[in-house]
Amino acid sequence: MVDVIIVGAGIIGCACAATLARQGLRVTLIESGVIGGGATAAGMGHLVVMDDNPAELALTSYSLDLWREQVAAQPLAHEYHRCGTLWVASDEEEMAAAQDKHSLMRAHGIACSMLDATALHKAEPVLRPGLAGGLLVPDDGLVYPPKSAQILLDQALQHGATLLRAEVAALIPGGVRLAEGREIFANEVVIANGLAALKLLPEIPLRHKKGHVLITDRYPDFARHQLVELGYIKSAHASTGDSVAFNLQPRPTGQIMLGSSRQFDVTDKAVEPAILARMLQQAISFIPALAGLKALRSWTGFRAASPDGLPLIGPHPSRAHVWLASGHEGLGITTSLATAEILKDQITQQRSKIDIMPYLPSRFDLSGQMAS
Ligand SMILES: Cc1cc2nc3c(=O)[nH]c(=O)nc-3n(C[C@H](O)[C@H](O)[C@H](O)COP(=O)(O)OP(=O)(O)OC[C@H]3O[C@@H](n4cnc5c(N)ncnc54)[C@H](O)[C@@H]3O)c2cc1C
Repeated sequence: MVDVIIVGAGIIGCACAATLARQGLRVTLIESGVIGGGATAAGMGHLVVMDDNPAELALTSYSLDLWREQVAAQPLAHEYHRCGTLWVASDEEEMAAAQDKHSLMRAHGIACSMLDATALHKAEPVLRPGLAGGLLVPDDGLVYPPKSAQILLDQALQHGATLLRAEVAALIPGGVRLAEGREIFANEVVIANGLAALKLLPEIPLRHKKGHVLITDRYPDFARHQLVELGYIKSAHASTGDSVAFNLQPRPTGQIMLGSSRQFDVTDKAVEPAILARMLQQAISFIPALAGLKALRSWTGFRAASPDGLPLIGPHPSRAHVWLASGHEGLGITTSLATAEILKDQITQQRSKIDIMPYLPSRFDLSGQMAS
């Protein structure tokens, strides 16, 4: 019997395994597919401070600090690039939103600077003329998520964790039952298998939020920063309907990755030409030169969306010794390392660096509503 079983070796399960094993706990990580092959492989790998609400800001900025420590030793292995985020404002209304973001981030000690239209053009000449300006957050970055998941797994294994290639079919008292029939026991079980958590715990309030991504051939120096339209904030946090927003990432390989689309409750993973076309039209409206690039591949993935947009990190409200690390929506790469720290603090009864209350699963009742 081990101390902790972790179900799922995406970025979240691997981060939790590394952190718990480093703490001296005996960990078994169980993965039925490819390491980091789920939502982790589908995502863009943008490490970004988001400030939609204080809890999101606390979790993302804490995690960004942990990422900078994590990548310091081997930035190339993570394909890390400190590209910064350039939030692009189309008009004066979005400039006002950029200014609010600037004030909030500065108040929390996050480096950032406002750019007027001239400075924006100088920072990113490929953007079309006529944009109002933007906000540069220079310490944001990017990684290649499946590689980062593997690195975190390797760290866990170096600290004595074991990896079991199997599918968890059910939770049982004190452990899990594998699809092959074997039962494995542990003091604690961590559910970190993304949206597939719904198969083990149907009561968790998670919804599918489908996203499309496209990658181009190599165009070194086409763009320097992760470019995100400020309108993205409106579409990313809408709770109904399909939406698209301009989100461009310059990969260290010279490739350009484009997102993003958001569709609630769509579970078919097929690329949808109509959504992809809308997404690309939006991107081309910011950078006309994109129309001349050669696309190589597009794919989709599913974000695990909770009702309030924050992840569930902590004990299951009614199942003893079952812990949740799920519902990371579109920020799970960014928030993986802070998630692992917060979970480790709860399991080992230590005080966390940030207030954990906003992420506790007990804020929901079992029907998925906000607990009163
Ligand atoms: C289009 C898109 C773009 C995104 N862009 C970004 C971004 O730029 N930045 C960012 O921070 N986040 C981004 N995200 C979000 C991020 O990718 C996810 O939040 C994160 O990958 C979730 O990781 P996970 O480990 O919880 O889930 P997953 O990566 O899905 O891992 C779950 C693992 O559990 C395994 N598993 C499932 N069931 C079982 C079982 N019964 N037994 C054993 N193993 C099992 C699966 O095989 C899988 O490997 C994006 C997501 C999408 C879809």
